[in-house]
Amino acid sequence: MQQEFYRDTWVDIDLDAISHNVKSMKEHVGKNVKVIAVVKANAYGHGSVQVAKTAIKSGASMLAVAFLDEAIALRNSGIEAPILILGATRASAIQLAIKYDITLTVFSLDWLVEASQYIQEGTVKIHVKLDTGMSRLGVREEKSLLAIFDYVKTSSCFHIEGIYTHFATADEKDVTYFNEQYEKFDEFLELIPHDELLVHCGNSATGLRFPEKVYNAVRLGISMYGLTPSLEIKDELPYTLKEAFSLKTKLVNVKKVPKGTKVSYGATYEAKSEEWIGTIPIGYADGWIRALRDVDVLVAGQRAPLVGRICMDQCMIKLPYELPIGETVTLIGRQNNEKISVDEIASHLNTINYEITCMISMRVPRIFW
Ligand code: PLP
Repeated sequence: MQQEFYRDTWVDIDLDAISHNVKSMKEHVGKNVKVIAVVKANAYGHGSVQVAKTAIKSGASMLAVAFLDEAIALRNSGIEAPILILGATRASAIQLAIKYDITLTVFSLDWLVEASQYIQEGTVKIHVKLDTGMSRLGVREEKSLLAIFDYVKTSSCFHIEGIYTHFATADEKDVTYFNEQYEKFDEFLELIPHDELLVHCGNSATGLRFPEKVYNAVRLGISMYGLTPSLEIKDELPYTLKEAFSLKTKLVNVKKVPKGTKVSYGATYEAKSEEWIGTIPIGYADGWIRALRDVDVLVAGQRAPLVGRICMDQCMIKLPYELPIGETVTLIGRQNNEKISVDEIASHLNTINYEITCMISMRVPRIFW
C-alpha cells in the first residue's frame, strides 16, 4: 500500500523498469550467474523495500546493502531473501547478523577473532573481500587471505559463503587498470578453494561490458535503476536500460508579473518583460539544491527555466504562458516528447547520475507503479 502524503511533490518509481533491467542483466550474463541486487542507500534513492521485492521477483538471488541498519530494516519489512552487507560491520554487532540471517563482508583476521568473542550462539555467513586496487576495503596480501581461511577452518562461528572484489575503473573505456585488478583477483583465487563459493567481482559496468568476467555472480546497482554506469560507456550498452526515477511537482501559485519584477532571495532574477511566474513546492531541503538554479523543468510538454534562487521548500519557474494551479511540473522524467534525464541534472552539477537519485531526500514521497 502506498503511504498517504499531502504535499504536491513526489517521485514516481517505475517498478516495471526495475524488473526489465534485472531480467535483461540476468539474460545477458547467463543462467549460471546470480544477480545480487544492490539496494543500499534506500536503493539509490528509489525505495529499498519495493525495489528489493521487485528485484527478487525478477530473478535476483540476493540483495546487498552497505550497513547492518539497512539490512535489518529490510528484514523488518518482511524480506527473507539473502542479504549481503558490503560495508564494514562492528564486531560487537555480530550476534545481530546471526539473528537476522545477514551475510557480512570480512577483510581482517583481527576482526574475526574479536567478533568471535561476541557470538553467543550460531554461525555467521561471510564473504571475504579482497582489495585488488580500489584501496577501500579488503585483504591486500596473500598471507592475510590464507590466515583468514585457516582461522575459519578451525572455528564454528563463521561460514565462508563467498569471496569478492570491487573494480575502480570498470566504467572507463581504458581497461588497463581493470585488467590489472582482474588478474590480481584471479591470482588470489588460485590460493584458496573456491569451487563452492559465490565468487563475484562485477558491478553494473562489468556485467554490461564483460559478462564473461563476472565469475558466478554480478552485483547490480546503477543499471538496475536504468542508468548508465558512466557516460563514457553509454555507447557500449548491450541492451536498453529503462529509467525508473521521475521527480514531479505541481504549480501551487501562478502570477503575471510586470517587467523588472525581482524573484526570490537576493532578488537576483529580474523579469525581462511581462512574465508568467509559477511557484513549485520543492527546494534544497528536498535535495533540489541551490546549485540547480539554472536547470530547466518540463511544464505543459515544454521546457521552462527555473528563475531566481532555490529556497528551502520552494522555487520559481518562468512559465511559457498562463497555466492553472495544479499543473504538473516534471523536474526529472518525460512530458510528451521532452525529457530531462538524471544524466542531464548530473551534468549540470558536474557529478554522476548515482548522486542525483540519492540526493533527493526522503521528505519527497516515493510512489511505486
Ligand atoms: N559492489 C560494491 C562493493 C559497491 O560499492 C557498489 C556500488 O557502489 C556496487 C557493487 C554496485 O555498483 P553499480 O551501482 O556501479 O552497479
